[in-house]
Amino acid sequence: MSLENLSINFATVRQAGTFAEIVDACLRHGITAISPWREHVNAAGIEEAARIVAANGLRVTGHCRGGFFPASDEAGRRAAIDDNRRAIDEAAALGASCLVMVVGGLPNGSRDLPGARQMVEDGLAEILPYARQRNVKLALEPLHPFYAAERACLNMLGQSLDLCDRLGEGTGVAIDVYHVWWDPDLEKQVARAGRNGQILAHHICDWLVPTTDPLNDRGMMGDGIVDLGRFRAMIEQAGFAGPQEVEIFSHRWQARPVDEVLATIVERYRTVCQPGAVAAAAA
Ligand code: ZN
Repeated sequence: MSLENLSINFATVRQAGTFAEIVDACLRHGITAISPWREHVNAAGIEEAARIVAANGLRVTGHCRGGFFPASDEAGRRAAIDDNRRAIDEAAALGASCLVMVVGGLPNGSRDLPGARQMVEDGLAEILPYARQRNVKLALEPLHPFYAAERACLNMLGQSLDLCDRLGEGTGVAIDVYHVWWDPDLEKQVARAGRNGQILAHHICDWLVPTTDPLNDRGMMGDGIVDLGRFRAMIEQAGFAGPQEVEIFSHRWQARPVDEVLATIVERYRTVCQPGAVAAAAA
């Protein structure tokens, strides 16, 4: 099976080191799609990162990440806008399919969740013209409600798509199984996103039972309770044929050698992440 639709988010293989070292590790395993984080890109320098991408013919399935709009004062909100403009520039230089937006939660000490959500919408509306100019799509990523206070007050796919509809062209969603697998409205909202061409990224990992740390105990595909084959079938039926991007924040996997992690990912991608995979295994 071709690996052209398998992408590695750099958070998954942080232990490999620098931007260049992570790319080398991916290439050793035949993986040519990546999703880097700003810290890796900026440590390498944006020109050098873009050069590595071009020299190796890599596909950049996302740049991580923009967002974090809410702040307790105007200066904080301005700083966030400026930082998002820089992230847009980086995404453009890398030729990324989208800039992933983790929108931010409550400002320090605030109890005003609707107010935070308004700041998110205002912030996105403000950077969107610049993103359109630079031809960078903004992928709003709803995060599991557990993260509403600290990371993202955008928590459901339907809520995110409503926001995309209000913002208009140049916006869409990153659909991460970890954040949305539990949503009873999932199938309907995935179909809706597909109809409108708003699926910009498909992130995968697994939900472990029990999950011991919501931040850093995400599971390797196949180790948890998400039916990833069925999930992928739903995404493809909705019209998205782009890569599955592996994003596993995990202390356990980060403690293992990077080649072991990548070899396991390739094996699981083949055996549990394809449409019909679980049904085939049970037959
Ligand atoms: Zn994600």
